[in-house]
Amino acid sequence: MKLVFASNNPNKIKEIQQMLPESITILSLEDIGCTEDIPETADTIEGNAILKANYVTEKYGYDCFADDTGLEVDALNGEPGVYSARYAGEQKDANDNMDKLLSNLENKFNRKAQFKTVIALNINEKQHLFTGIVKGNIIKEKIGTKGFGYDPIFVAENDTRTFAQLSLEEKAIISHRGLAVKQLIEYLLNI
Ligand code: IMP
Repeated sequence: MKLVFASNNPNKIKEIQQMLPESITILSLEDIGCTEDIPETADTIEGNAILKANYVTEKYGYDCFADDTGLEVDALNGEPGVYSARYAGEQKDANDNMDKLLSNLENKFNRKAQFKTVIALNINEKQHLFTGIVKGNIIKEKIGTKGFGYDPIFVAENDTRTFAQLSLEEKAIISHRGLAVKQLIEYLLNI
């Protein structure tokens, strides 16, 4: 089965490919010749996943899935949420984003947060949504060198290490994206 994953982010492609059976071949946007920036203009995580999947299916005619993720922080009313990538500006810099978040959480007692991934799958003329959530806390300093984004400041519930201290395999088992992909795979294996 050939499916487009509407992404060119090598970290994400690597993470997802590792979890998929060999019977499912993933094509990236580059593989199908889609070089333009797909608009991510929705104001919800679900909305952006749907926008991306629909863009590929409508413009290129492929079955496709797209994901969108945000970090939702309780004490900031769910921010940065859908704006996680560009929280500190259009340069989309992970360190700047983490610095802004740590500064906005200074003196806040409640440091609870969750990563949420929504995957929108367009297949056989139908659309399905899969949601993965991992709850945890934002710590006060950056620890760890693996992963990407907000990984160095996020510790999942029942864990002591940040996501940036976990191997790719360890992170995939408990992460928001891992949980959403697991649902996607279960669905794909049963059609
Ligand atoms: P995207 O929708 O997967 O591109 O994610 C949007 C933003 O959320 C990224 O630019 C990161 O800042 C953050 N993010 C997404 N997934 C992760 C993750 O697994 N760890 C840390 N940050 C993430």
